[in-house]
Amino acid sequence: MSFTDFAPIAAETVWRVVMQAAGYQCQCTGGCKPEGAHKTNPGHRCKREHKPWQPLIVTAAAPTGDPHKDMGAEQVAYCGPCYDGHLAATKRTARAAADKHETDTPLFDLAPEGSDL
Ligand SMILES: [Zn+2]
Ligand SMILES: [Zn+2]
Repeated sequence: MSFTDFAPIAAETVWRVVMQAAGYQCQCTGGCKPEGAHKTNPGHRCKREHKPWQPLIVTAAAPTGDPHKDMGAEQVAYCGPCYDGHLAATKRTARAAADKHETDTPLFDLAPEGSDL
């Protein structure tokens, strides 16, 4: 899990704030699967909670896999499987956008282009 290795102190502070806001529960509401997930849960929200053996990840709502970009975006709590699903979804979205060269309504709030330094 290399994405927790960078800037440990800043990351830990952010992690705590985000986890408290999330109630130490994964904040995925079904976007981790193209067909939607967690459909039987209240609010379609993933039920995984933070456990020592199953830590939740603080990352961008639409993670790119690039820690510098993801740190600058709105931060949410995801469990491992949901993070993987959202990462795949973001990559699919980015690829589709690059193919089409036009912007439809995005699935997620993506950071505006050129916002990273
Ligand atoms: Zn989850
Ligand atoms: Zn999920």
